[in-house]
Amino acid sequence: MAEAAGRFPMAVTPYYASLIRCLDTSDPVFSMCIPDGRETADPPFLEDDPLGEEADMAVPGLVHRYRDRALLLATTTCAAYCRHCTRKRAAGQTETRIAPARLAQAVDYLSVHPEIHDVIISGGDPFTLGTHALERIIRAVRNVPSVDIIRIGTRTPVVLPMRIDDGLVRMLRRYRPVYVNLHFNHPAELTPAAEAACERLADAGVPLGNQTVLLRGVNDNAPLLAELFRRLLRVRVRPYYLFQCDLVRGVEHFRTPLARGIEIMEYLRGRLSGLAIPTFVVDAPHGGGKIPILPNYIVSTSPTHTVLRNFAGDLVSYPEPYREPDGLSPAAAGPRAADGVWALACGVRVPAETCALAHPASFRRARTGYT
Ligand code: SF4
Repeated sequence: MAEAAGRFPMAVTPYYASLIRCLDTSDPVFSMCIPDGRETADPPFLEDDPLGEEADMAVPGLVHRYRDRALLLATTTCAAYCRHCTRKRAAGQTETRIAPARLAQAVDYLSVHPEIHDVIISGGDPFTLGTHALERIIRAVRNVPSVDIIRIGTRTPVVLPMRIDDGLVRMLRRYRPVYVNLHFNHPAELTPAAEAACERLADAGVPLGNQTVLLRGVNDNAPLLAELFRRLLRVRVRPYYLFQCDLVRGVEHFRTPLARGIEIMEYLRGRLSGLAIPTFVVDAPHGGGKIPILPNYIVSTSPTHTVLRNFAGDLVSYPEPYREPDGLSPAAAGPRAADGVWALACGVRVPAETCALAHPASFRRARTGYT
């Protein structure tokens, strides 16, 4: 633990530490904030900067990868240092905030790149800055005419919710539209204080999203994530991304197989409102960008029909726009005595119930929770 803490900084707010119920890694809050000897494991495929942010830095502190968006790193300080952080190379290593000269340089760059409409202010955690210091940054970005949207990425409402005070929300109101992306990973983090912080931001007209990182032993559990996403929606926070853990040095013990995330997405569909279901993404190494990963709902395709399956596993034949058979399609071969997916792709309609009958109702109920 001492070696891990020496390599990657540690800080925990008294509030967040108070959520720990058990002083070992069986406790999700403990796992996310207390150094773990496994952070020193060094498989060769892990990197300090797996997303290649340094390479995409247009000017110091401003990452420009996607044409219409830029990421402004406003500070390297956080209220608590997450053991699973993607920017372990920077967060807490030195305590700095963006200097006025660097901010001016970043703003100059934004001004001569009118294709950038969306600026994400991140770090570190921008809400660790004093309200006036943060306002100076937001005002400077807002003064660039081509910037439409400002987004702030923060975990402060999770680890220090009392920071979301009236002065901060009043200031954010002045620069709308300012979107705030939160970082809740576990229902245990959604305390009354954290919920009140979300409500204060939402009441100020700040649209709220949430980015959850899938962490082994913390939240790689479908019903647990369903509870988290449902409760977030209740306090007006829209689950936005479920991130596969990045290939960053120091987090190997948190990584899950991709199949785990797909299995979780499979579980959520049909059980939760679409509003509560985030997009599961892999942030591709070396700046490859975010890749959405979905369970496969397409079973087969033909020029006339696409065979889909729904969340319960029932097959549906979806007719494509009509056009004359070209002699090559299965439909052109005419219906045959075949059944199953080929018949569906031929346009011989098989109602979903017929497929479902392949499984006794009691089996379906047990499998899906639905009749
Ligand atoms: S708050 Fe964000 S930047 Fe800071 S340590 Fe946690 S994940 Fe990293």
